[in-house]
Amino acid sequence: MERRSFFKIIGTASGGMLTGACGNKARQIIPLLVPEREIITGAEEWHPSVCRECGAGCGTIVRVMEAERKTRQGNENVRERIAAIKKIEGNPLDPVSGGRLCARGQAAVQALYHPDRIRGPLKRVGARGEGRFEPVTWDSALEIAASAVKKAVDKDPARIVFLTRPEASNRSAAVASFLRALGAPPASTTGLCDFEIERQAAEVVFGWRGLPVYEIQDADYVLSLGADFLGGWVSPVFYARRFGHMRRGRPGRRGQLTHAESRFSITGSSADRWLPVRPGGELALALAVGYVLVTGNLALANVAAGLRNGFASVDFERAVKISGLPAEQLRQVARDLGRSESPVVMAGASVVQSNSLDAVIAASALNLLLGRIGSKGGVIPPVEASIAEFADSRAHTVNLLRRLESAELVMLDSANPVYAQPASAKLLARAPAIVSFSAFIDDSSAYADLILPDHASLESAAVVVPDVTPDRALTGAQPFVHPLYDTRATEQVLAELSKILGRALKIDTPEDAFRKLFAGNKSDWSDAGEFAKYCNRQGGWWTESSRSAHASPRFELPQLREAEFQGGAAEFPLNFVPYPALQFGDGSGAHLPWLQELPDPASSAMWGLPVEIDPKTASRIGLKNGQMVRMISPSGQIEAPAYVHPAAIPGVVSMAIGQGHTHYGRYASEQGANPLTIAAPLTDPQTGAFAFGATRVRIEKLSQQDRLVQFSAVDREPELHRR
Ligand code: SF4
Repeated sequence: MERRSFFKIIGTASGGMLTGACGNKARQIIPLLVPEREIITGAEEWHPSVCRECGAGCGTIVRVMEAERKTRQGNENVRERIAAIKKIEGNPLDPVSGGRLCARGQAAVQALYHPDRIRGPLKRVGARGEGRFEPVTWDSALEIAASAVKKAVDKDPARIVFLTRPEASNRSAAVASFLRALGAPPASTTGLCDFEIERQAAEVVFGWRGLPVYEIQDADYVLSLGADFLGGWVSPVFYARRFGHMRRGRPGRRGQLTHAESRFSITGSSADRWLPVRPGGELALALAVGYVLVTGNLALANVAAGLRNGFASVDFERAVKISGLPAEQLRQVARDLGRSESPVVMAGASVVQSNSLDAVIAASALNLLLGRIGSKGGVIPPVEASIAEFADSRAHTVNLLRRLESAELVMLDSANPVYAQPASAKLLARAPAIVSFSAFIDDSSAYADLILPDHASLESAAVVVPDVTPDRALTGAQPFVHPLYDTRATEQVLAELSKILGRALKIDTPEDAFRKLFAGNKSDWSDAGEFAKYCNRQGGWWTESSRSAHASPRFELPQLREAEFQGGAAEFPLNFVPYPALQFGDGSGAHLPWLQELPDPASSAMWGLPVEIDPKTASRIGLKNGQMVRMISPSGQIEAPAYVHPAAIPGVVSMAIGQGHTHYGRYASEQGANPLTIAAPLTDPQTGAFAFGATRVRIEKLSQQDRLVQFSAVDREPELHRR
């Protein structure tokens, strides 16, 4: 769909807003293409909201354009009041977005008007996974769902599996209360892009609950180890703003960035130095750098003896070998860190390996060696959550396949396990009951017995505690658009189910949440109602807060070890690195045409994602850009076009996650291949996180040439082959 056509698809904004403006209420919702000649544009309004496309919780403002439509009703010419949501931008007041947004946040408007949204409750009529449904009334759907819940509770509530998005919000609080009342375990995530490894590492190393905040805007030297913070890691808009300040916001003082990752990511390409570490070698890299800091007297003098001795006893030669990097390069990084006035190490696992928790622990511990806890330009603890109940209800990673194996009832809320961990498909196929709250028929809801569709986020009330923020924050959205279809907010559906089951469930509206905030805080406001109104008007509440920068480390430094991979090196000679795409995140953005059209940062491919292969390997197999290849792992095989990536590490092939959905609307279904299909079913043993980078593959050339659609006209491949 073209952008121009897209803007012609219109719905109506809230009656309140329109009435306030002109005294006339919109007559009806018009989810149709309306010819431009019929529209007289009117005044614009901006409404605060919050982006729900990832857990970062960026505050947004949404441009709503009023209009009148000239139309005929019977013999009468009438003017009908309508309104269209035109654009989403960052809320300048919000400390996370600071007035900016990423492409996914901007494209969220397309989810509202998407032609394949589910328009009312559905009951499955086809086989599991086939995606065939028939409409059913809400009354009947709720009865069926309540009976499935009751059956599961009677059998064993511990076998209810509720999968949801990794977010701290009024939604997560409602889900937690619902499950608590049933005696069921807390909700969990599908394990992709939920940053559970980073959370657990922060707790182990610093004793902090939540994600650390890196003050890179004031740093002179940043080592980002496995954290693709410009490409989707944790809170990309927030860190991109801080990175911009570090580079250009301080005249005469430009901070340096060294980035270590097994692929040339967008963060790697923005760095002064990229360290192409071998997959799974991040732990070795962190330990080797720590060894040089300690033995080269570059670490703080008063570092705890256990930590100092742990780093000092690292087998440096072996660590260098596992990392795949030259020893001198690692020594130089340690010297740069040790000699910088204001260094910091960002510790992340954008691609999860079987030793990622240890790697993030070791990388985080470098900040202890450098004395960077609570320092300007260092790392600071997460702020105390504005509403503890929301933060406590955030879903965590579990060993998903193990949980699904014995599931009696699976409930899916903005979670797509079949895409994230394709091995879960056969477990869903035999689950006794599945209820989905998805707004689209996707890979997983195609297995559901019942779909109780959620509103689009722009139609929903939401209050979110952002993942990473410098200030205490609660970001809220009022539903300023009437739902276009017969959908219901999932928290409302959970309350209705609870009522049928004879239990009570209280849901927090943004107003309630802000009132709670008022009760728990001293502020200049004397009246809770006025305070809530003020928060709703500006899109949230943010305040500076003091935080204790104290770290209480209680851990032993992890031992040097290699990551585990599925597949022997003789049969499967290449490491495979599937990675969350900038444009699609965990794959959930693939249904939006703007994101499909966004050129991939690595290959500039649009409407398709290739396998990125280094020039030497490509030359050995005889591959050129666009040549179709079959990639085979011990878990399966996929076919995709090749892209000869000039900066790919020899022996490491990568592919962005996002395409290859079996079901996900007309723009994403059956489009390309899902790289997770061939990922090894290995997990980080300590967190249960899906180690989707733990796979080895081999590549076979196929005879056909695919049309790899690239935005860039410059093809660098021939030049590389001449070298
Ligand atoms: S980082 Fe992007 S997708 Fe995530 S909340 Fe912010 S704007 Fe939305």
